[in-house]
Amino acid sequence: MSFAPRRATVTALVGTVPVGSAHPVVVQSMTNTDTADAAATAAQVAALATAGSQIVRVTVNNDEAAAAVPEIVARLADQGVTVPIVGDFHYNGHLLLAKYPACARALAKYRINPGNVGGKRRDENFRTIVQLAVEHGKPVRIGVNWGSLDQDLLTQMMDENARAGSPRTAKDVYMEAMLASALRSAELAEETGLGHDRILISAKVSHVPDLVEVYERLAARCDYPLHLGLTEAGMGMKGQVASAAALSILLAKGIGDTIRVSLTPKPNGDRTEEVLVAQQILQSLGLRSFAPQVTACPGCGRTTSSFFQHMAEDIQTYLREQMPVWKQTHPGVETMHVAVMGCVVNGPGESKHANLGISLPGTFEEPKAPVYVDGKLFTTLKGDRIVQEFLVILEEYVARTYPAPALVGAAG
Ligand code: SF4
Repeated sequence: MSFAPRRATVTALVGTVPVGSAHPVVVQSMTNTDTADAAATAAQVAALATAGSQIVRVTVNNDEAAAAVPEIVARLADQGVTVPIVGDFHYNGHLLLAKYPACARALAKYRINPGNVGGKRRDENFRTIVQLAVEHGKPVRIGVNWGSLDQDLLTQMMDENARAGSPRTAKDVYMEAMLASALRSAELAEETGLGHDRILISAKVSHVPDLVEVYERLAARCDYPLHLGLTEAGMGMKGQVASAAALSILLAKGIGDTIRVSLTPKPNGDRTEEVLVAQQILQSLGLRSFAPQVTACPGCGRTTSSFFQHMAEDIQTYLREQMPVWKQTHPGVETMHVAVMGCVVNGPGESKHANLGISLPGTFEEPKAPVYVDGKLFTTLKGDRIVQEFLVILEEYVARTYPAPALVGAAG
């Protein structure tokens, strides 16, 4: 299957990260620390960036948070972390950005929710934020959310619909109100002086079919880079699957320039999970490569021991753990494909399709594990040290197939 070509969009530069046009889809995340706690927030931003987040958003909700932003950016710079930091503003962004110019300068982008910029003075407050973005040379994401839609606009559109000869459904009007809020805000931002290439848009809802519909309509009506995300995706498997379903449909249609997976972590859970899930969605779709992929069969009555499940897990973990170093020393290794299979039925066939594959013995099979390298039988492993011996073969394969950049130069 080949996906639809990416639609034409402009490119917006977020810090040093280009978003839109033919640029790779960008992975984003958001912290859940108290931004006023500069040390904790900088530590979480660093963890998210190390996991692969290319842009990290932090909430800027009060004076203390705004005052802490420059320190967060400075702490990150001290660690060599240059990931762009985006400020998430609701209700008081016009006040905070004006009162804390160092915060306005330190942020790489401002996220504004047009439904949360103030009641009667909405347009005025919105313009103030945009003027500050122009002054500081920052892009803006106009981030509409189903849960905080501009109520005046919605009421106006609902009333107009009720008076129409053939009224549309309430849901349809709701979606149109989201789009109108986003696109009118973009128009207002451009009238205020913000460049067309300084605007990104998102319109998030929490129900997969609605999200797909909203973004299809949005993509048809503007050429701004679009940030995708299923808002309030939820916890664990539900959040991961729902996000993957929603984003995959859209990305396959060429819609979406940045993505975030909004998972609810377990208490004290690892925030970087949302980055890994976002990367996995993009890699599963063949849009980007972040880490070698392990193909493992699900197992069945032919694999009565848990040995092969442990082996698949050990290899997956090993590969992930090597990536921070391998990214530098073995460029291209992120495209490698490893197969760990449970028995002879599909094992040799699947292993031959991988760069490196092992077919473990099923319950009644001879206790030996053929290893395939680039489609050819390489060796057969036996005994208690199959995993360790396979990892040695894997290390040698990586060193040979994805040489360090200096070696490439020397060979050439
Ligand atoms: S490869 Fe073998 S063990 Fe794995 S699912 Fe297929 S039949 Fe079962």
